[in-house]
Amino acid sequence: MVGEYSWCDWVWNPIIGCNSVSTGCLNCYARTHVERSSGRRFGKLLVNKQVLYDPLRTHKSHMVYVSALGDLFHRKVPKDILLEIFDVMRRAEHIVFLVSTRRAGRAVEFLSQRKIPDNIWVGVSAEDRETANNRLASFKRLDFPRKFLVLEPLLGPIELDLTGIKQVVIGGELGPNARPCYLVSILDVVEHCRLEGVPYYIKNIGSFPVHNGIRYQLSETESSNSNNWPKILRPRGQLVMRASLHEYSGTS
Ligand code: SF4
Repeated sequence: MVGEYSWCDWVWNPIIGCNSVSTGCLNCYARTHVERSSGRRFGKLLVNKQVLYDPLRTHKSHMVYVSALGDLFHRKVPKDILLEIFDVMRRAEHIVFLVSTRRAGRAVEFLSQRKIPDNIWVGVSAEDRETANNRLASFKRLDFPRKFLVLEPLLGPIELDLTGIKQVVIGGELGPNARPCYLVSILDVVEHCRLEGVPYYIKNIGSFPVHNGIRYQLSETESSNSNNWPKILRPRGQLVMRASLHEYSGTS
């Protein structure tokens, strides 16, 4: 889904493959990675059974991003597989799982019919005003206390209704074909979060940040290092989802 995971401890990929749903998918990191590394056609979904039980093989507390090489709520992911994946997450109660999707409709349909374990955060991803409005409108129907929003790749100004959202994560587009990330759009989101009292976290500013009419080119690592950012973007915010790890690990 998103191409840079230094904010999580590891990534769990029980599903590999997906296809585009909106303009945010244009330079999908997962598609490039899967097709280059395995030669597989990205549109052909694979249930990655080899790793399905990996979360149960560690006893350490971690924050784990779920399904970075596909979208868990793609319509081709069978319901019984989804049930199995959620059951693994329920049993791995020492881990905090972040499940993010661009398919808010199916996510809400699936999740609203069952109890979601306490160690799971569920998020929607969006890239512009239209996708944010549509997905957040669907997401609102889910009555759940740990909802987050990922704005990545942030492609322009966004007006947000943050009702029920407990964390916003912001990032630009990464990679050689990255589209511009206007830092003023990030600042607008940050300001909105501050006004609404919603914690935000800036993951990166993209490979092609634009500020005051100046375009910079940054590598993935440079973009994720806040020392390379204009001062107006600091502090980068807080990941309250990570803080919630202490609830499960017993540390403080
Ligand atoms: S939904 Fe995510 S994984 Fe699927 S094509 Fe779009 S960016 Fe890639």
